[in-house]
Amino acid sequence: MNIPLLDLKAQLEPIRDEIMAAITATVDSTCYIMGPQIELFEKNVADYCGTKAAVGVSSGTDALLAGLMALGVGRDDLVLTTPYTFFATMGSILRLGAEPVFVDIDPVTYNIDPEQVATLLSDSSLASKLKAILPVHLFGQCADMAPLLKMAGELQIPVVEDAAQAIGSSYPMPVDGALQWQKAGSMGACGCFSFFPSKNLGGMGDGGMVVTNSEKMAKDLRLIRVHGDISKYQHTVVGGNFRLDALQAAILNVKLPHLHKWHAARRQNATLYNALFKEAGLVEAGYVATPQAIYQDAAAAGKGVDYHIYNQYVIRVKDRDALRDYLLDQSIGVAVYYPIPLHQQKCIADLPASRLSFPEAEKAAAETLALPIYPELTSDMQEYLVERIRAFYKK
Ligand SMILES: *Cc1c(COP(=O)(O)O)cnc(C)c1O
Repeated sequence: MNIPLLDLKAQLEPIRDEIMAAITATVDSTCYIMGPQIELFEKNVADYCGTKAAVGVSSGTDALLAGLMALGVGRDDLVLTTPYTFFATMGSILRLGAEPVFVDIDPVTYNIDPEQVATLLSDSSLASKLKAILPVHLFGQCADMAPLLKMAGELQIPVVEDAAQAIGSSYPMPVDGALQWQKAGSMGACGCFSFFPSKNLGGMGDGGMVVTNSEKMAKDLRLIRVHGDISKYQHTVVGGNFRLDALQAAILNVKLPHLHKWHAARRQNATLYNALFKEAGLVEAGYVATPQAIYQDAAAAGKGVDYHIYNQYVIRVKDRDALRDYLLDQSIGVAVYYPIPLHQQKCIADLPASRLSFPEAEKAAAETLALPIYPELTSDMQEYLVERIRAFYKK
């Protein structure tokens, strides 16, 4: 059985006509840069996330870049982040002449560990140079935002959420003694999304969005997006060409109403995987550790909460590379995110961070494997895949 890591054709089929109609309408409108589709999509995403504003941009990477620029991050500033994420998180910091300061991850969620953030922030000379804190909601589950926001708030350091893998994912924020579910991207100074085709909400090319509750931040982002052009050829700040294409916005406007249902299907697939691995005895034997949805219990009362959106379903396994090769050889699409933690990347070999060790990030990089989890994946495929993994360990 051939099981791809992602099957975009299966997603396209039921909405193909609607998407083609939206593309045709946009082509016929000849409005390709900015315009009504962008405005509509920004309104739709702001409503979906519960934020005051949303600013469409050219990619998730540019969302991070524009977000940090709007906060004035620049040369010799420090930005606190995780070493276990996609390169763009660190790349956006470095491109502004700033430097990443890493804090290791929690081994259960793979998200930045708030306790180690606290330790680092207790060094006041370092904390005073921090211009932003950049947590990532990795694999579709929110980082533990309450303690991060509390610490950041006390030090008046803005938090930029890298929510590229987590649009719609919700976090149980304690507010006045009760839990309030807040969406990824809506909790910090701004949140950054990517519409790269493999994300839960994927376009047909590149695209991104910054959401924020600050009118000023939104205004600055809109300016930065168009080279700082305040009105015809008058440039008040140096920005970039960070616009979202109207065609992508038109496509994404069709897809957004389906997102909640797709999230639920991914969650259902994750639940089945968890059960199948347990049944196969692989968890008990210590071969496979399945991912933990740590906000699931809090979500039990309120049905339909997207407490995890499983952009990736990532297991921790023994003999990872051998298992990966074994599955790939049998046309089962698995992948390693991310094999080299950021502090070990060549491009920062001359920075102090490269001489430090982040044991949990290094361990995750060596032990984790992502399995197909897309909404249209069938239970037959999942059963077959888990059986193949069982066969690998119990030869
Ligand atoms: C995908 C991703 C990005 C970058 O998004 P692009 O749209 O590809 O530029 C940034 N951060 C994380 C964590 C991502 O997964």
